[in-house]
Amino acid sequence: MPHGEALVGAPVADAVEDVHVGNEAVEDEVIDRRPRIDPTRSYLHENVILQLRTTEFSAVVNTLLICHLARIVWASPASDLPFLCMDRVLLAVCYVHFGVFCGRTKYWWKNHALYSAARNQPTPRLLLMGVDRARAYQVPRLNILDNLWLVLVPCLTYFASKTALSVNLRYHWKWCLWGWLASMILVPIMFFVLRSSIIIVDHGMTQDCLEANTKISAFDPSKPWSAFGDPQCGICLVEYQKNDPIRLLPCDHHFHTKCVDGWLKKYTNHCPFCRAPIEPANTKED
Ligand SMILES: [Zn+2]
Ligand SMILES: [Zn+2]
Repeated sequence: MPHGEALVGAPVADAVEDVHVGNEAVEDEVIDRRPRIDPTRSYLHENVILQLRTTEFSAVVNTLLICHLARIVWASPASDLPFLCMDRVLLAVCYVHFGVFCGRTKYWWKNHALYSAARNQPTPRLLLMGVDRARAYQVPRLNILDNLWLVLVPCLTYFASKTALSVNLRYHWKWCLWGWLASMILVPIMFFVLRSSIIIVDHGMTQDCLEANTKISAFDPSKPWSAFGDPQCGICLVEYQKNDPIRLLPCDHHFHTKCVDGWLKKYTNHCPFCRAPIEPANTKED
């Protein structure tokens, strides 16, 4: 079965620009040295969400499959089998598969925690660092063993006599194959949907980060105006009225909360005026 880490490089048709340069070798060489756009870095928010959802999908589907396999193995105790027979080989392969599954559970847990942490980072730079940290946590050998299962079962059951174990394993393998195919189809579809819809994916900052790094005050016309510029919202250009909630950003620009909060949470964590990032003081970008 495929898992979260195998899905990092989901294909994105429009992410990599192919540049036509003719037949001249020198130009080709120049073009080859250009850095390619990595879709996993260009669409960080989408990829983090994709990682979280595919890890959850893998965990649920594989847990159901391993329970099904455990039921099959439980019904075929090794003590009932002759010393040398294909069923013993099949059972040994099943036990290895159980071991791989146990390794997977730890991987899913850690992988999900790392991507969840990355998702909640307040700035693009911290998000990228979180994604790099999550991507560095890979278990490639478990992946190979896991995919080997899909190859071994049909091969071994083909040469085995038609015992209850081999017949049931063949049936089980079909479900494994369906799970694998489903993930192969769902991942690019999910990525395309996430990439195409700005409504689904928030690219800005979390509410907690917004509250921690900006200030809200109610406008009071009886007090002298001490903030930057005129007492009016820089987005809707309407003068503040009494008790209007005003959000003051670290760059000293100020807006109605209803005007700026959507921008900061939905689209970007930068001030709509000066583009200064809204972030904790100890994580300022270079
Ligand atoms: Zn406004
Ligand atoms: Zn600003």
